[in-house]
Amino acid sequence: MDFSLTEEHIIIQDTARDFAQNELLPGVIERDENQHFPDALVKKMGELGFMGIMVDPKYGGSGMDTISYVLIMEELSKVDASASVIVSVNNSLVSYGIEAYGNDMQKQKYLTKLATGEFVGAFCLSEPEAGSDATSQKTSAIDKGDYYLLNGTKNWITNGGRADVYLVISQTDKEKGSHGINAFILEKGMEGFHIGPKENKLGIRGSDTHTLQFNDVKVPKENRIGEDGFGFRFAMKTLSGGRIGIASQALGIAQGAYELALKYSKERKTFGTEISNHQSIAFKLADMYTDISAARHLVMKAAWDKDQGNNYDISSATAKLYASKVAMEHTVEAVQIHGGNGFVKDYHVERLMRDAKITQIYEGTSEIQKIVISRSILRD
Ligand SMILES: Cc1cc2nc3c(=O)[nH]c(=O)nc-3n(C[C@H](O)[C@H](O)[C@H](O)COP(=O)(O)OP(=O)(O)OC[C@H]3O[C@@H](n4cnc5c(N)ncnc54)[C@H](O)[C@@H]3O)c2cc1C
Repeated sequence: MDFSLTEEHIIIQDTARDFAQNELLPGVIERDENQHFPDALVKKMGELGFMGIMVDPKYGGSGMDTISYVLIMEELSKVDASASVIVSVNNSLVSYGIEAYGNDMQKQKYLTKLATGEFVGAFCLSEPEAGSDATSQKTSAIDKGDYYLLNGTKNWITNGGRADVYLVISQTDKEKGSHGINAFILEKGMEGFHIGPKENKLGIRGSDTHTLQFNDVKVPKENRIGEDGFGFRFAMKTLSGGRIGIASQALGIAQGAYELALKYSKERKTFGTEISNHQSIAFKLADMYTDISAARHLVMKAAWDKDQGNNYDISSATAKLYASKVAMEHTVEAVQIHGGNGFVKDYHVERLMRDAKITQIYEGTSEIQKIVISRSILRD
């Protein structure tokens, strides 16, 4: 077993760390407050190769492995989880989905622009009545010969307002259940495609989340991904990789909070000594370090499984379940270590605590990860 990173890994990790510290950190509090993430920063992440980090260079991507992806996700998430979710959705849901399952026309038309950050992607599975229960899709796409006629509502869509390309999962044959679902590529501006107002959220407030409405949208037949009826499997396959991205986001949030708490504990004095000299604070830091290290191993294992061509359904679910729990628990502890200062925005830990919560909800809640894991271990 070799736990060391390659030279290439270290370079991309350093690049992401420099970008996060120099360009994401300034303004992160204001972006959270104003619920805004500037296009210029998305463009910069594209120029650095982050928006298509795993995409084949022949489609304009960086051609790097999943380990590189989780390394940049951790660095970005330490500072701004709103930035990292843009990267995560663009890479592991939208670009991966088109690269792995799309046809050549779709790759040339969409992937080449997604991979460079010229286009931003959104992945649209959730509906008001189909979140965890994703097979209960109400959005319908009726086959009209040359095109599908799409009607319905998707909610909670990350990049919903800023995206150019939307992968939309919809029911094409209700009788066939999960086999009667397809995935389609939609473009912003298609007639009948409406974007609702931005959600006002607890965390990842820089990331834009919207409800989308489709009223008789004509989707060309060539925009369907894969064989007829492949949509549900497509969604599950892409989400399995997406969970590696969210697990690494959770890891980064936890690591960011830990680093801030460690630094603060060596500066703040009470009872004549630094608070790190109080054993209850030192033990909190020891627990953080241990749990974050364990989460990192699970994240790396899931990324490695994907790179090796192994099945990564269980390792990605395990990594997401655990890393998100660690992120939630230890961001709360980081606030505690900061005392009153933890409760105000200037010290960053309260934002990390708010951002941590989403990692237990999206791309499958923690309860859904337990279903995935328990089904897998009981089947084996
Ligand atoms: C900020 C944000 C961004 C998002 N981005 C996207 C996106 O880009 N694309 C997209 O498609 N979706 C997105 N989502 C949606 C997200 O994936 C769903 O919110 C999530 O899957 C849960 O679905 P739900 O909200 O309908 O909750 P529900 O499914 O109603 O679940 C409610 C509760 O019941 C539990 N529960 C449900 N079923 C079971 C069961 N069988 N056993 C045990 N417990 C169960 C859940 O774990 C949860 O605790 C986003 C959500 C948010 C909040």
